[in-house]
Amino acid sequence: MDLKPFIAQAKIDLAALVAIDTVSAHGRNLEVGASFVTKLLEAEGFVIKSYPGKVAPILVAEAGEGTRTMLIYNHYDVQPESPLELWHSAPFILTEREDAAGVLRWYARGVSDDKGEFISRLAGLRALKAQHGGTLPLKIKWLLEGEEEIGSPSLEKFVHDHASELTADGCWWEFGSIDPAGRPVIYAGLKGIVCLELRAKVADSDLHSSLGAVVDNPIYKLAKAIASMRDETGRITINGFYDSVRPASSTDLEYISRIPDESAALQQAYGIKGFLENASGARYYERLNLEPVLNVNGLHGGYGDAGSKTVLPAEAFAKLDFRLVPDQNPSEIVKLIRAHLTQHNLSDVEVIELETHEMPGRSNLDHPFMKTAIDTARKVYGHEPVVHPSSGGSGPMHPFVEFVGVPVVAAGIGNISGFVHAPNENIVVAHFEKGVEYALELFSSVAKM
Ligand SMILES: [Zn+2]
Repeated sequence: MDLKPFIAQAKIDLAALVAIDTVSAHGRNLEVGASFVTKLLEAEGFVIKSYPGKVAPILVAEAGEGTRTMLIYNHYDVQPESPLELWHSAPFILTEREDAAGVLRWYARGVSDDKGEFISRLAGLRALKAQHGGTLPLKIKWLLEGEEEIGSPSLEKFVHDHASELTADGCWWEFGSIDPAGRPVIYAGLKGIVCLELRAKVADSDLHSSLGAVVDNPIYKLAKAIASMRDETGRITINGFYDSVRPASSTDLEYISRIPDESAALQQAYGIKGFLENASGARYYERLNLEPVLNVNGLHGGYGDAGSKTVLPAEAFAKLDFRLVPDQNPSEIVKLIRAHLTQHNLSDVEVIELETHEMPGRSNLDHPFMKTAIDTARKVYGHEPVVHPSSGGSGPMHPFVEFVGVPVVAAGIGNISGFVHAPNENIVVAHFEKGVEYALELFSSVAKM
């Protein structure tokens, strides 16, 4: 099928959608974005319900007939465009130009994350309709939110409350990418996350450092607390921390063993001194995909300017994030951390839960829908897909896996130089075009599943 007319129309729609600056962090134009998405979907015969979210509407669109049902999750909000001076073209105008290597790209905020993903799928759906005389051979349920970039504060509860309306044979997640060798990179899960602040206070005001002879030091306390929580290989030493970690399946490990080892390239690109456990190859990806992480974001307190200042600071704080894997639960993990501090005589170190709190979610790669998504990628891209049982990152996948009970696959059109969330966000035009073809083929394959 000639996809050119569908791609041409998709470019027009994408340009119009990125022109709406739906910045959820600033509450900008979210209703306008939601109406535009509604109009696009209504034109394809979708019936749309709009539900209020915390700052932006959640849309659930339904169309089609058939024995199979596919759920799609996308978002119409974007990250703020700042710093504006680093953009080479206006952030809310779709701009086509070649990069230094002569690769044709489209630039705009949201062109990759997530408006380009949404529009490429919509174009594939239009092509599918054209193939079937204006009808859809499967049922599509399309959920779009406008709060993804502020941590999806309404989504978990929404999906929980509407689980019975969202049932499907499979769910297509909002992102995915094509690697520099042209291989589609597919994810079957996301880690959970819990962000914490640890606070230690020893006095109401800073003290003369001579009093260090008799007064404990808050930075020392925090350092001790943090050091007690993990060993030098990165293994977390909090009692019970691994009790609920789900063992990897043989399929997960098989896929991991086939991931091309890009650790050396990463090491070089960022000047990384070395990896924990000297991990490379399968071990490196096991750690990235399947193991929980304790990361210290910052440790703050006391004097840090030029020269010396003999002060004993009154208080100090540290910011931590824990990346979690199925079936760890953020609230349970916080309880274990508190118990750990008590066991180490550090119960006066205060644990403050920050807003970021997400459950992990991972789908079974042996499920027919997951296999269909992978097989279709192999066929469309002409390369063996790189399949990660989970991304190392986090996102709101859990309610779909857990409450709806649907397998979720992440596949899409992003690229390693896509500058998602940064100035000069872009996609490779050829990836967008392939994305339209992938959408068409995936819909067709699921309809026949
Ligand atoms: Zn994003």
